[in-house]
Amino acid sequence: MKPIKHFRRAGSRIPLKFTVWLYFIIFTLVVFALLWLFQIFFFDKFFQRMKIRTAVDSIETIIDSYNNDPKDKFYRKFTEVAVKNEVCVLLLDRYGRIDTKKEVIAECIIHDRNYNKEVLVSKIQASENGFLTTTEVNPRTNENMLIVGCRLGSASSPQGYLIVNSRLEPVPNTVYIVKSQLMFITSILVVFAFVISLYLAKRISSPIDRITKSAERLAKGDFSTKFDGRGYLEAKQLADTLTYAEKELSKVDTMQRDLIANVSHDLRTPLTMLKAYAEMIRDLSGDNPVKRNEHLEIIISETDRLALLVNDMLDLSKLESGKQKLSLSEFSITEKLNEIIDRFKGLSDKNGYNIKFTPDEERTVCCDVVKIEQVIYNLINNAINYTGDDKKVFVRQINKDDGVIVEVEDTGNGIEEDKIKLIFDKYYRSENHKREVVGTGLGLSIVKAVLKMHNFDYGVRSTLGKGSTFWFKIRNVKK
Ligand code: ADP
Repeated sequence: MKPIKHFRRAGSRIPLKFTVWLYFIIFTLVVFALLWLFQIFFFDKFFQRMKIRTAVDSIETIIDSYNNDPKDKFYRKFTEVAVKNEVCVLLLDRYGRIDTKKEVIAECIIHDRNYNKEVLVSKIQASENGFLTTTEVNPRTNENMLIVGCRLGSASSPQGYLIVNSRLEPVPNTVYIVKSQLMFITSILVVFAFVISLYLAKRISSPIDRITKSAERLAKGDFSTKFDGRGYLEAKQLADTLTYAEKELSKVDTMQRDLIANVSHDLRTPLTMLKAYAEMIRDLSGDNPVKRNEHLEIIISETDRLALLVNDMLDLSKLESGKQKLSLSEFSITEKLNEIIDRFKGLSDKNGYNIKFTPDEERTVCCDVVKIEQVIYNLINNAINYTGDDKKVFVRQINKDDGVIVEVEDTGNGIEEDKIKLIFDKYYRSENHKREVVGTGLGLSIVKAVLKMHNFDYGVRSTLGKGSTFWFKIRNVKK
């Protein structure tokens, strides 16, 4: 067998190991880049947005409670919201005097004694819908503070003012802790990702490397190569597929060897005989008409044997090339069977073979007459070759509603169960062959090829020591 060339696709020279590792590292870097971007660079913006939302939510919840809850419940809610949302809340009466307050954050400015509440109240009054969101700098800490104010009641007769004060900037210490934690996690995870990706890359690529090495050995013609697909499912599937391919390749290889052995043996034997008898006629029996005719007879029969082999090879290769078309015609299968059996008459009379035909009612069938004739001929020929010492062969026509079954039975040794699958293979011949059985190992392959072309069912029943029955069923019957 020719060694298969080692192909590498252009442009795919990067090892799988490296590709897996690279993708994993890229993935890790992207994850960290996103994490850093959101945690560090956009942190302040997120923080501000969240604080504004919390402050607005707080004020809305308190107003809702002010409008709907009894006084004691309202005061409870007031404190609860302030603590939960970490905001300072101040309730002023309609004159701007403090009604209730809750101080939660230390940097609060609205609770500062010096804070000018009147200015804020007038700003709220002037604002649209009586709702104000603004920022003010804490003069003590220089920090930007968020102030959300809201008027209770209508603009003409306000009942009071609710003011919420919240931080707008994250505590620097918190940011510092988050940053250093992130730094720490990032460095640990980068090292971890590096190690894991190396391990993963190796784990994914090593079964493929192993299988590739084995495949290279197979390509060199070593059919005993074992494919080790341990690791993961896909590697196992690949290994199984290659093991299957190896089996098939080795079958083809054995078949090819057998073919060459069979063909060369079958060709050489008649050729040697032809040469020997031709030389005998030249040197010895040329002048003796009796001997010469005897030798010429042998030359003729050996030529027939050669012709048979070459014809079978040609027939099969034509059938298998797929170029042959069926040429369908209608004919009487009963007549055809009689006609073929008659052809064996000479042989039957000479060698004592007894071919018994059991016809059914005459039926017209529609198929390729020449090819089906060859099928019947091959089956009867095999039956004669392999039948028992009683030299009996039975041919039957069995009519069915949907077709006609043709059976050819012999009384020979039968075929072993495990060989039945093989006998239709090309060049398969049982080992215990008698030389006098003229055969090419192609007869049943031709039968199979023709019946498959017609899409007819076929098969064989065989009992060891009792004989075999080969059958096929012609469909497309014309009634
Ligand atoms: P061959 O030229 O060897 O007969 P075939 O393809 O016709 O080639 O048959 C293949 C093999 O099948 C034979 O070698 C023989 O072993 C087996 N075989 C075929 N027909 C019969 C039969 N009627 N009885 C027993 N064995 C058979």
